[in-house]
Amino acid sequence: MLSGYWFIIEQDSLWLAQGNTPGHSYLPEFSLPEPAAYLVCYINKKPCFVLEKNLLSAKYLNELNPIPFRQTYDLLTPDIFKLATKAKALLHWLMVHQYCGLCAHPTMILTDELARKCTNCAQLFYPKTSPSVIAIIERKNEILLARSPRFAEGVYSCIAGFVEPGETAEETLEREVLEEVGLKIKNIRYFASQYWPFPNSFMMGFFADYASGEIEVDNIEIIDAQWFSKDHLPILPTHASIARQLIQDWLNRQ
Ligand SMILES: [Zn+2]
Repeated sequence: MLSGYWFIIEQDSLWLAQGNTPGHSYLPEFSLPEPAAYLVCYINKKPCFVLEKNLLSAKYLNELNPIPFRQTYDLLTPDIFKLATKAKALLHWLMVHQYCGLCAHPTMILTDELARKCTNCAQLFYPKTSPSVIAIIERKNEILLARSPRFAEGVYSCIAGFVEPGETAEETLEREVLEEVGLKIKNIRYFASQYWPFPNSFMMGFFADYASGEIEVDNIEIIDAQWFSKDHLPILPTHASIARQLIQDWLNRQ
C-alpha cells in the first residue's frame, strides 16, 4: 500500500483536487494498493508519487479534474509546480524505456540509482534531458518575438531550439535564429535556466542583440516574427515559462 500525495498525469494534463489554498492542497492524497507508481519527492515529510492516469481506478478520479499542465502553475505555486515538472519528466522516462533499445527485452527500475536496467543485457537507461536554448533578441527599444504553429492562438514568444551534437549553446542560438527568422545576432548574454517537461527540455535562456539581416521566417518552426515595443506587445506565453521571465526582465529594464 502506498500512501501520500499524487501527481496523476495524463499526457499534458495534471489531475488535481479542489484545493483550498494555492500549493500542495491541490494534489490528491490517498492510499493505493500496489500501483505502478514512482516516488518523486517528499512534501511536508509525506511521500509524493507519480502515476499515469490510465493506471488509476476510475473511483479515484471522481473528485479530480484534468488541468492543462502549464495552467497548474498558478494553482500549485512555483515550488510545487517545479516538483510537478520533475514528476512529468520522470513519468515520460518510465514510459519510453520500458524495453531495451539494444535487445528489446523488458527493463526494470533500479532502487539504488535513477535508472532502468535491461533484464537481459544489463544496459542502463537514465532519464534523458535535452539541452535547448531560448532567447530574446533586442534591437534598440524593441524585441523580436515569433509565432510557432504549435502555440495557442495569438501567442508570440522567444526563439528556441535544441542543442545539436557538437554545438555550444551560443552556436545553437546563432544557428536557430538564422534558420528560423533569417537574422544574425551578437553579444549573447546568459540569463537563467529552467527544466521544462515537454517532454524533457533543459532550457538555457539568453539575451542577444540584433546584428544584421531582414526577418524571413522558415514557415515550418516559425510562421511569423515581428519586432515589438513595450507598449505594443502581443499575447505572451505563460508565467510558468522562462520565455515569459525573459520578456519580463526586458520589460523591467525599459
Ligand atoms: Zn537489453
